[in-house]
Amino acid sequence: MHEFSIVQALLGQVEDIARDYNASSVSKIYIVVGEVSGVEPHLLKTAFDTFKENTVASEAELILEFQKPHIYCMECQKEFSLERYSMRCPECGSFKVKLTKGDELILRTLELDI
Ligand SMILES: [Zn+2]
Repeated sequence: MHEFSIVQALLGQVEDIARDYNASSVSKIYIVVGEVSGVEPHLLKTAFDTFKENTVASEAELILEFQKPHIYCMECQKEFSLERYSMRCPECGSFKVKLTKGDELILRTLELDI
């Protein structure tokens, strides 16, 4: 499952950071999930609860923040925030657009217990 490998990578990152700060545990993990990243939030949470055992994040709470898609139109040379994912400019209708936000999954903040 896609989410399992994401969570394993995420926990690896969290453990590296916790080690750098000599943290005894991690209390909260904030991640930004793009709405078109293809990640299922409930699967992500399930995977997290499975893999966090026996890690520095075993007591941590996973907090998801969702990022709406943004596209950049090459014709208008403007960026638009979209409610719903579309690869079409809402202003001029052009398909010469690229996704600039919304497909990411980023570790944003960690709360560590030192
Ligand atoms: Zn446009």
